Amino acid sequence: MPISNANLTAERPNFVTHLECSMTGERHEAGELQNLSRSGWPLLVRYDLARVKGALTNEALQSRPKDLWRWRELLPVRSAANIVSLGENETPLVPLDRVGARLGLKSLLVKDEGRLPTGSFKARGLVMAVSMAKELGVGRIAMPTNGNAGAALAAYGARAGMEIIVLCPDDTPEINVREIAALGARVYRVNGLIDDCGKIVGEGARQGLWFDFSTLKEPYRIEGKKVMGLELAEQLGWDVPDVIFYPTGGGTGLIGMWKAFDELETLGLIGSKRPRMVAVQAEGCAPIVKAFEAGDEHAPRWEDAHTVAAGIRVPKAIGDFLILRAVRESKGFAIAVSDEAIVRAVDEAASRDGLLLCPEGGATLAAAEQALERGLIGRDERVLLFNCATGLKYPMADRSKTLDRNGPLILAEL
Ligand SMILES: *Cc1c(COP(=O)(O)O)cnc(C)c1O
Repeated sequence: MPISNANLTAERPNFVTHLECSMTGERHEAGELQNLSRSGWPLLVRYDLARVKGALTNEALQSRPKDLWRWRELLPVRSAANIVSLGENETPLVPLDRVGARLGLKSLLVKDEGRLPTGSFKARGLVMAVSMAKELGVGRIAMPTNGNAGAALAAYGARAGMEIIVLCPDDTPEINVREIAALGARVYRVNGLIDDCGKIVGEGARQGLWFDFSTLKEPYRIEGKKVMGLELAEQLGWDVPDVIFYPTGGGTGLIGMWKAFDELETLGLIGSKRPRMVAVQAEGCAPIVKAFEAGDEHAPRWEDAHTVAAGIRVPKAIGDFLILRAVRESKGFAIAVSDEAIVRAVDEAASRDGLLLCPEGGATLAAAEQALERGLIGRDERVLLFNCATGLKYPMADRSKTLDRNGPLILAEL
């Protein structure tokens, strides 16, 4: 099926009513360029769900090609001409049967987001945010990134003909830094962490040099990411899993899915049952876990953050209270895993079930194992993990051996 399918070209009645401050509920106009709310918090997109209900029926959905744009009534883009698509496919739910059997779990599924454009789920958020930026007349965008978001921004920015400036920590995975440059963006390695990069981007935005695309500082990335929740509910026959393990950095995906389930319930497509949402972090950077355990609403900056899972090395998340709210409302929990457990989990899923996870995806598997041991989840529960990027983007151990074609070869020993 070519990229340009009916979902992309169809007339799109727009159902957006307004943007809402996620802290105070204050209304902001849609259709204007916005970063944070007037009181400095992330903005959420609100729709006229009563009208969406008439248009986005199960029947209508089933008649459409299976991609992200299938959900157009719940997305903010007004004009099809502004969509800068690279083919945002639906991602599969891949069972980990052997790993699941070893853990004694009845059902263990991975939503494999590594198959999206640019090899990560950042494509979902960035295709939406860049399409909206195009609709609202933005020409130059800057962003702090741990790698994958910058790559997705560079790709869609190139397609939209925009100027893109990306700042990343100097130890960002090499492949990401080169990918961003290859896609035509200007990329700078900064001697600091992602929030240090964010400060520089914020300062340039205040000087009017560019539009700030930091996580949750523009309203539309969440709308792209929420499609993960819409998609998985439909894939499971309008039933949700019992537990979702999500590797949490800025939390866009977790917050987005939580919003998606509410929207689906209002549309009558799912009932009131919700999955327990689990925020997975690394022991070397676990601000959300610390705040969850302390019963706090916000998570102070985590000092000296370090982990092999670069995507979740986020010392301070502006949407911390939204992550914590979703986790608590869902009766879920937050859990930290060690780098050793992450590496072991990546190894196990690859060698036993043939699925090469990214380290962040490995973190969700390690967390599920730990949660079972601690009795936080049961063996008969339906567990869903997120693999956020293709494992091919990360360094792999060299376990090859050499063979001398001129020497005596004992083939039976290979
Ligand atoms: C960005 C990213 C995450 C974290 O996602 P958030 O929704 O921002 O919390 C996890 N893993 C990978 C590979 C990422 O690129």
